[in-house]
Amino acid sequence: MFKTAEVRSMRNVFSSLWTVSLALLLVACTPPTSLYVSESKSWVVENVAGKSTAELYADSIAPAVFERSGSKQIDGYTVESGNLVMPDKSRGSLVTVRSKDGSLTAVVERSGKNGLLVVNSEGEGRFIPYPVQDYSLQDTIVEKEKTKSYESKSKAVTPPYVIDMLIGYSRSAVAAAGGDAQANALAQVESVNLALRNSLVSDVSIRLVGVQVVAQNYPITPEILANLPQIFSAGMQTFDPDMLYGIFSGHPDDSAVGWGYQPGRTAIGLVYGEAFRHEVGHNAGGGHCHESGGSYNYGFNNGKSSTAQCGNGSPYYSTPAVRDQYGLPLGNAATADMARVWRENAERLSSYAPPVVIPAPTEFKKIGSTSSSITFSWKSSSEAVRYEIYKIRPGTPSQTKIGDSTGLVFTANYIAGEWMFFVKAVSSLGMVSKPSNIIVESPN
Ligand SMILES: [Zn+2]
Repeated sequence: MFKTAEVRSMRNVFSSLWTVSLALLLVACTPPTSLYVSESKSWVVENVAGKSTAELYADSIAPAVFERSGSKQIDGYTVESGNLVMPDKSRGSLVTVRSKDGSLTAVVERSGKNGLLVVNSEGEGRFIPYPVQDYSLQDTIVEKEKTKSYESKSKAVTPPYVIDMLIGYSRSAVAAAGGDAQANALAQVESVNLALRNSLVSDVSIRLVGVQVVAQNYPITPEILANLPQIFSAGMQTFDPDMLYGIFSGHPDDSAVGWGYQPGRTAIGLVYGEAFRHEVGHNAGGGHCHESGGSYNYGFNNGKSSTAQCGNGSPYYSTPAVRDQYGLPLGNAATADMARVWRENAERLSSYAPPVVIPAPTEFKKIGSTSSSITFSWKSSSEAVRYEIYKIRPGTPSQTKIGDSTGLVFTANYIAGEWMFFVKAVSSLGMVSKPSNIIVESPN
């Protein structure tokens, strides 16, 4: 569902492969609290599918005003985001992900109220407050991130940079997030995209390309961070992301609420809280609050407002180009300019995935069905001589090839229950494309 079929032409041209051998910092973001969740509030919404998204979140953001700055349709979900402005003009944020069935996953950040709002398709609403977590303590270990090499692209490559993200969850983390891993993952990604927009980083964005759910819940430790590509190896193979993030639900062995390589492509964090935006900022190259002798890769606290790396709960990365409600800058060119760090690291972050060698098919869709078969069609890939059709159980990206086609139609027989389906193009040289868009379908 999250493999978009656009051709990443920026990856078609690359010069040479070089191995990543930078000394990377491993950053821990404070010890965990022993109890992550305070009590959540629950209620029931009548006729949830008939309600507007604004009606579903109104009580949770009051008295803030929502200033929507982004709205898009992504694989059947409506993803919207913007800042929340309190009566005292302090700013927070709201990210909403609305499913076709009416369910809502939303991340609310405003002074005095941070948490996850989930309303399921039955209208059962819950607000799960985020525990107060101090992200400002620092514990860094110099370590090399064991990544495969990434491509140094042609100097002619220009923005916008799109960074493909795979998010892996434990089953218990999905339950804690309200049950819809895709919706939660879209909300996490949008929380970063909102912060990038707010910080005037207009040519860098993150795109969710895949979600994988595993049965086991892992502790948030440097060891698990290092093993993350193995834990989510099926998703790594299927979706070829640039970045990988693991979300877990809390474990007695947790040594932090999040760990991330600085810089790098891999991070992990608790499902409760704003770890994602913060840890991904470490992957971009950011530290915490500025320390003497450092560079400009820090978060900022101007005495009234702070930004994402320096503490958390702020929909801004540090930048001297934006001011808070008091007219104070949210960064400093010498010490706190995470917007610059993002711009300077966007090419690296968007280049971890292998280059696209053949365009993926597009507009993959169901065009017919019986009680045990589904017929699909798709738009051709320019270099394809044949196509391979695959199925995956939702949440378990071990792909099963179910057939080949030289045309643009395929009927899958003996299908029972709900599956994710996609198609890949194969060139005359046997090169296989990335997946088309992924759809979830079942027979009649
Ligand atoms: Zn941190």
